[in-house]
Amino acid sequence: MNTIIILVCVAIVGAGCAYFRLRLWQWTLATVVTILIVGFGLRAATPMWVLLGLFAVLVALPLNVTPLRRALFSAPLLRVFRKVLPKISETEQVALDAGTVGFEGELFSGKPAWSQLLSEPKPRLTAEEQAFLDGPCEELCAMIDDWHITHEIADLPPPVWDFVKRKGFFAMIIPKRYGGLEFSATAHSMVLQKLSSISATLSSLVAVPNSLGPAELLLRYGSDKQKDYYLPRLADGREVPCFALTGPYAGSDATSIPDYGIVCRQTVDGKDMLGIKLTFDKRYITLAPVATLVGLAFQMFDPDHLLGDKENLGITLALIPRDTHGLEIGRRHFPLNIPFQNGPLHGKDVFVPIDTLIGGAHMAGQGWRMLVECLSVGRGISLPSNATGFVRLAVAATGAYARIRKQFGLAVARFEGVEEALARIGGYAYAVIALSRASAAAVDRGEKPAVASAIAKCHATDLGREVIRDAMDVHGGKGIQLGPSNYLGRMWQGAPIPITVEGANIMTRSLMIFGQGAIRCHPWILKEMQAVREADRAKALRDFDTALFGHMGFGISNAVRAFVLGVTFAKFGAAPGDPYTRRYYRKLNRYSACLALLSDTAMGVLGGKLKFKEKISARLGDVLSYLYICSAMLKRYEDEGRPEVERPLLAWAFHESVWRMQMALDGVIRNFPVRPVAWLVHTLVFPFGRREVPPSDRLGRRVAALITAPSAARDAIVAGMYLTPNANNPVGRMHALLPDVVAAEPVERKFLKAVKSGTIKAHDYFEQLAEAERQGAISETERKQLEHLRRATAEFINVDDFDPAELRAAVVHDGADTQRSLHVA
Ligand SMILES: Cc1cc2nc3c(=O)[nH]c(=O)nc-3n(C[C@H](O)[C@H](O)[C@H](O)COP(=O)(O)OP(=O)(O)OC[C@H]3O[C@@H](n4cnc5c(N)ncnc54)[C@H](O)[C@@H]3O)c2cc1C
Repeated sequence: MNTIIILVCVAIVGAGCAYFRLRLWQWTLATVVTILIVGFGLRAATPMWVLLGLFAVLVALPLNVTPLRRALFSAPLLRVFRKVLPKISETEQVALDAGTVGFEGELFSGKPAWSQLLSEPKPRLTAEEQAFLDGPCEELCAMIDDWHITHEIADLPPPVWDFVKRKGFFAMIIPKRYGGLEFSATAHSMVLQKLSSISATLSSLVAVPNSLGPAELLLRYGSDKQKDYYLPRLADGREVPCFALTGPYAGSDATSIPDYGIVCRQTVDGKDMLGIKLTFDKRYITLAPVATLVGLAFQMFDPDHLLGDKENLGITLALIPRDTHGLEIGRRHFPLNIPFQNGPLHGKDVFVPIDTLIGGAHMAGQGWRMLVECLSVGRGISLPSNATGFVRLAVAATGAYARIRKQFGLAVARFEGVEEALARIGGYAYAVIALSRASAAAVDRGEKPAVASAIAKCHATDLGREVIRDAMDVHGGKGIQLGPSNYLGRMWQGAPIPITVEGANIMTRSLMIFGQGAIRCHPWILKEMQAVREADRAKALRDFDTALFGHMGFGISNAVRAFVLGVTFAKFGAAPGDPYTRRYYRKLNRYSACLALLSDTAMGVLGGKLKFKEKISARLGDVLSYLYICSAMLKRYEDEGRPEVERPLLAWAFHESVWRMQMALDGVIRNFPVRPVAWLVHTLVFPFGRREVPPSDRLGRRVAALITAPSAARDAIVAGMYLTPNANNPVGRMHALLPDVVAAEPVERKFLKAVKSGTIKAHDYFEQLAEAERQGAISETERKQLEHLRRATAEFINVDDFDPAELRAAVVHDGADTQRSLHVA
C-alpha cells in the first residue's frame, strides 16, 4: 500500500512538473524529494529505498547523464530516424525555409506566452498615411461609379486610371527614394480596405502591383541598374506591371510550369547578344492586358553551357517589356463580372537579353525561392484587406437596410431569423477585421509571416464570403437586382475570386497552414530534422539528443496540460486580460495544448503519410487558425483600450471560433486511423466530452442590435471604409440616414397602430399620415418625420429597371469577326 501511495505522489508531482514545464533535472530532483518525504512520512523505509534505487538506476542516471543518454537512446533513434524520415523535395525545403515565425509559434507551443503578443506595438498610421487616406484615397472613392465600371465599360474610366497612377496607388511598397509612397503594411491595408468598400474592381487592380510582382521582386533581388531604371517608372505609373506564373497546366502546382527559356546567342541589331529564347503560355494574369512590364516565371535551360556547368537551371524570373517582339498580350478574361484587367499572354521563341533576368544571370534558377520569400508579405495584406473592406461594407449596408426595410409592420432586423444572419455578419466581420490587422502588423514588425499570412488569406476570404452570403439573404430581392443602386451584387459575384487566387483556399487550408505551421512553428521538429540531416556525426548526435528530449518533454507536458485544463474546464491559472477576457485566454491555453498534443500524435503516428491525410491536416490547421484569430481579436481589444461596447462582438466571434476549434479537434480524433491512439487522445482532450457551444441566441441578439443602430461598436466596424454620403455611395447615404430611421420607429409604431385600428380610411401612405395627424394619432412634427423618411428611404427600397435594349451586350459580332477564343497552345 505504501508503495502505491508513494507512486501516486510521484505521478502527481511528475504531472505538476510537466504542467509547468520544469527541466529534466528539476523533475528528477522533485521525484527524489517526493519519494523521500512521502517515504519518511509513511515510515516506509523499505519501499522508499527500493523505489529510490530503481528510479536512480533505471531513470535518473540514464536520462540525466548525457553520454549515457546519448548512447542508450539518442544514437539508436537517430539511426532509425535517418532511415525513416521522408525525403523533402527542394520545393518543400524552399517553402519551409521561407518566412519567419511570429506569435503563431506560441500558439503551437501548448503554453502561449501572452506577454509577447500583448507587448507588440499597436498598429498606427503616420500623419502622412492618414492624410493619404483622407485625401487622394477619399477623392478616388468619390470618382467611382461601379456600375459604369462593371457593366458599361468593363474597365476603370481613363481619369480613374490616370489618378491611380499619378497619386502613387501602385507604388505603396516602393521606397520614397524611388518616388514611391513607402507606406507601412497597416497603411497599405487601410487603403485597400477603403477602396474595396466602394469597388472590388478598383481594389483588385490596386492590390496587385503592391503585392507579389515586379516592384517587390526588384526591391529584394534586382540589380542596382534594374532598380534605378524600373522603380521610378513603376512609382509614377509610366510602367504598369503584371506577374505571370500561372498557366493552363500549372495552377496550384506552380512549380510544374512547362514554360521554358533556352540560353542562346542571337544577333540583335547587328550585335551578337547572350540571351534566352522563351516559350510560354500563361493565363489569369492580373493587369496583363494593359501591362507594360511583364514579370515572367519559366524553367531555364542552358544546353550549350553558355552560363556554366549546369544544364537544367530551374525556375527563373525575368522582366519583359511589352514591346518585346513575339510577346502576345492584350486579350482579356472576364473574372465574374469584376472586370479588373486580367488576361492571358503567350510567346514562342521570344528572345530577350540575359540582363532581363531579375537580379541578373547569377539569379538564374532562384525563381521559386524568390517567389516564396516574397509571397508571405503580400499575401498577408492584399486579399485579407480586400475581404475586410467587403465585410465592413456588408455591416454598414446590411445593418442599415435591415432597419429601413419593413415587412409585417416591422423592420426585418426584428425577426429572429434575420437576427441570426445579422449576428453572423457582425461576429465574422469583427474576426476578419482583427485578423487582417494582425497579419499587416506582423509585416510591419519586419516579419515574413508565411503561416500567419496563409491563415489570414484563407480565413479572411472564407469568412468574408460567409458574411456576403448572409448580407445577400438579408437584402432579399434588393441584393439580386443588379444596377447602379445595387451595392452588394458585385461583391457576391466576386467573392470566389480572392478565395481562388494566391493559393486557392482548399489547398491553403489542407496543405499549407498546418503543413508549414507544424514544421515552422513546432519548437522541436525542425531542429530534429536538421539534426538528422547534419553531416557532422558528432554534432548531429548532440543536436538530435537535445531536440529529441526537448520534444519528449514537450509532448508529455502537452498531454498533461490538455488533460488538466480539460478537467478543470480551463477555469484556473494565471492569465492576462481584464475580468471579462481572462477566461478567454485560459480557454486558448487549453486548446493550444490540445493542438500541440494532437499535432505530435498525428506526426508521430502517421509520419510522412500525414502529408496525404489532408482532411486531418486541414482540421489541425483550422485549430491553429482559430487560435490565431482569437489572439488577434484579443490583441485588438487590448490595443483599443478594452472597449466595453464591443464585448458582444468579441464574445460572439470568440465562442464561434472556440466552438469551431472543438469541432475540428473532434473531427481529427473521430477520423484518426489508429483507433486505440484516438481513444487515448480523446480522453486527454475531451475528458468530459465536447462542452463548447456556439454563441447563444441572446448574444446573437445583442450583436444584431449593435450593428443595426448607431453605436460605437458599429462605428468601429465600419471605420475605414468609404462612408461619405456622396451620390456614388448608396451605402454611405444609408449609413447617414440610420439615426433618423431608428428615431422614427416609435412614431411608426403609433401610426401603424392607428392604421390597424381601422379608423384610417385612406389608401395612399401620405394621405394615411395626414389622416392620422387629423385624428391625433401622431403630431404634425411626427407626420413630417415619417414623410421625410418615406422619401429618403425610397431609393434604398427601390431597385433599378432597364429598357431591354440597355441590357443587350453592346457589341454583337457576326460570325466572321467574332474573336471569342479558347486558346489552345
Ligand atoms: C482572377 C484571377 C487573377 C489571378 N491573377 C494571377 C496573376 O496575376 N498571376 C498569376 O501568375 N496567377 C494569377 N492567378 C492564378 C491563381 O493564382 C490560380 O488560379 C490559383 O493558383 C489556382 O490555380 P487554378 O485556378 O489552376 O486551380 P487548380 O490548381 O486547378 O485547383 C483546383 C482546385 O483544386 C485544389 N487543389 C489543388 N491542389 C491541391 C492540393 N494539393 N490539395 C488540396 N487541394 C488542392 C485547389 O485548391 C482548387 O480548389 C489568378 C487567378 C484568378 C482567377
